[in-house]
Amino acid sequence: MTITPILLTPGPLTTSLRTRQAMLTDWGSWDRDFNQLTASVCEQLLGMAGASSSHHCVPLQGSGTFAVEAAIGTLVPRAGKVLVLINGAYGQRLAKICSVVGRRFSTLQSAEDQPISAAELERVLAADAAFTHVALIHCETSTGLLNPLREIAAVVARHGKHLIVDAMSSFGALPLDARHIRFQALVAASGKCLEGVPGMGFVLAEKAALAAAEGNAHSLAMDLHEQQAYMAKTGQWRFTPPTHVVAALHAALQQHAEEGGQPARLQRYARNCKTLLDGMQAIGIRSFLPAHVQAPIIVTFRAPSHPRYRFDDFYRRVKAKGFLIYPGKLTQVDTFRIGCMGCIDAAAGNGMQAAVDAVAQVLGDMRVLNS
Ligand SMILES: *Cc1c(COP(=O)(O)O)cnc(C)c1O
Repeated sequence: MTITPILLTPGPLTTSLRTRQAMLTDWGSWDRDFNQLTASVCEQLLGMAGASSSHHCVPLQGSGTFAVEAAIGTLVPRAGKVLVLINGAYGQRLAKICSVVGRRFSTLQSAEDQPISAAELERVLAADAAFTHVALIHCETSTGLLNPLREIAAVVARHGKHLIVDAMSSFGALPLDARHIRFQALVAASGKCLEGVPGMGFVLAEKAALAAAEGNAHSLAMDLHEQQAYMAKTGQWRFTPPTHVVAALHAALQQHAEEGGQPARLQRYARNCKTLLDGMQAIGIRSFLPAHVQAPIIVTFRAPSHPRYRFDDFYRRVKAKGFLIYPGKLTQVDTFRIGCMGCIDAAAGNGMQAAVDAVAQVLGDMRVLNS
């Protein structure tokens, strides 16, 4: 391995040199300077969501799933009931979490290429008064599908239920403002659109809900009420923090702001996505989703139907050209995925156009394209 590959994946993602350099310092977890770093990160994350006055930001050690599990385990009372909205693998994971932490739940499912319908949600909520919470994946990273968060949040609010949003692969790139979209909790992580390194999740949780959540959690370490209470009292994380990850996220957030914040990040990812879709269309590779539900985050492509095509071979050859792609995650159709997130730019020399050129050349070399 001589080159550092560009990661065109659902995460971890390619980070900037400046973000990686921010990890060259060792921090003491009790030290004031580090605690200020944590406080600054939390403040910036709340600001980004327009949630500074309504929500707390509770950071949590671990990957994104840890934070999702902590949010459900802490905020859903033991006698609560969750309606899980599912149109892909991450939605399935929400249901699995409810089952593991022992919260009652039902599911409302749609096909993997169909957004969740607000009208159907309306019907299901009207039919069962026992629901306390609704859980939604904003961008279903297993396909790249964008769910209609605004419409769904409006229905949930109208029924007086609480919304938990997994915005893992959208936060920082897609617009989302707590002053316009009501959510009890939003969960995201350091290593996706914010372009930090992986290792820290966070939950933006309504202050009153968090205060009322004492004793709900099924777990000592994944109790957001306790994490928040300890942090408010001491300024410190409750258990050893991922210091280098926090420092990298702090640097990544500075760059996010300098770039122009969420709108600029969305523009760059949208450019990446367009370059990718145009380039693949030009060689006859079709994307799985219809354009109007495609988020500019990650794209699922139908694999070539030629018998000579094998993903492993394809992957190895594209990697040799400096890019890591990702297998598909669909049960019915043979697909692969190429991400648009991370510190890459359509315009840059190692950016999306170069990736598309590499993929096109590899598929040509493999002689699997219909021409
Ligand atoms: C990445 C991601 C997660 C978290 O996955 P981890 O493997 O725990 O980092 C959860 N939900 C969605 C939608 C994601 O894209």
